Amino acid sequence: MAPTHVLRCCQRSLAWIPVIFIALVVCWSYYAYVVELCVFTIPSIGEQIVYMIFFHLFFIMFVWSYWKTIFTHPANPSKEFCLPKPEKERYEKEERPENQQEILWRAATSLPLYTRTGAGAIRYCDRCQVIKPDRCHHCSACDMCVLKMDHHCPWVNNCVGFSNYKFFILFLAYSLLYCLFIAATVLQYFIKFWTNELPDTHAKFHVLFLFFVAAMFCISILSLFSYHLWLVGKNRSTIEAFRAPVFRAGSDKNGFSLGFRKNIAQVFGDQKKYWLLPIFTSQGDGLLFPTRLVSADVEQQATVTLQQEPSKSVVDVPGSPVSESQNRLLSSKQKTNNIAEHQENNSHTPAESETITISIESES
Ligand SMILES: [Zn+2]
Ligand SMILES: [Zn+2]
Repeated sequence: MAPTHVLRCCQRSLAWIPVIFIALVVCWSYYAYVVELCVFTIPSIGEQIVYMIFFHLFFIMFVWSYWKTIFTHPANPSKEFCLPKPEKERYEKEERPENQQEILWRAATSLPLYTRTGAGAIRYCDRCQVIKPDRCHHCSACDMCVLKMDHHCPWVNNCVGFSNYKFFILFLAYSLLYCLFIAATVLQYFIKFWTNELPDTHAKFHVLFLFFVAAMFCISILSLFSYHLWLVGKNRSTIEAFRAPVFRAGSDKNGFSLGFRKNIAQVFGDQKKYWLLPIFTSQGDGLLFPTRLVSADVEQQATVTLQQEPSKSVVDVPGSPVSESQNRLLSSKQKTNNIAEHQENNSHTPAESETITISIESES
């Protein structure tokens, strides 16, 4: 017991090394820019003041968003996703996977779940003993299930997920701006040192390194930032970009995409004045996400309804998430439908499957 505990403590301490490295580089960059460049190298007072104001603006926003990304605890599934005690005991005693699935299906009827495993089963984490909400994944580094998990980032020693994805994007944006600003303003002094237009002092080396480090970080952050902006536009997590989520109608990489504007609002919120601030404004609770068939958009709902068979009501169509979206915990009628659907899970008629497929295609 004790050696395992010591090993875990060592692992946790070592995990902070990349964060400490970044913090040291940032502290040095602050000293090199403010003291060595602005105070000792730049002769013009006006230029010094303008550089200092913009530098501190980017520096504060960068440190603020980095801090929030590191210290925002990843969001975990709520208690309603845990199996009730008797069911959990039955699940643990049960040896046959099909019987375990039966227990999970019954427990999941009251939960808002649209995604399944590749084999069509309920997603369950044996480690955390919890039914995984849509877009939730288990992080082995954090040893917990994380809502809308994107990836585990060693540079922030934290999981990037529902609770801090906006902070992570802003951290990338401000670190890019910080590096770009440093590289752009240092460039002329970098050239002057090389052409011997400035005295050969110790500031020379700080300015040289400042330019190289800023340019190097710029290039690496730019590619990561562009990729995450693309993911935000598509409403996809990094995990979903590599492995498309599986819905009842099959896997669909655009399953959570609601259109560019709504996808942005999912992460950054409705109010544009908060978009650039590392304050939590993401939409939803991290447990339930609208799929592109489930939207508050009346027009979209009308389109979906029209494309379903006229003889069937919206509620009666198996696999239709429209009915379920309105309530997180489903009504008793819907629960009955869900159980019936599970029992006939693999016996969808071609006509029913087609109805769903047509609806999906019409959105693209
Ligand atoms: Zn887990
Ligand atoms: Zn993690």
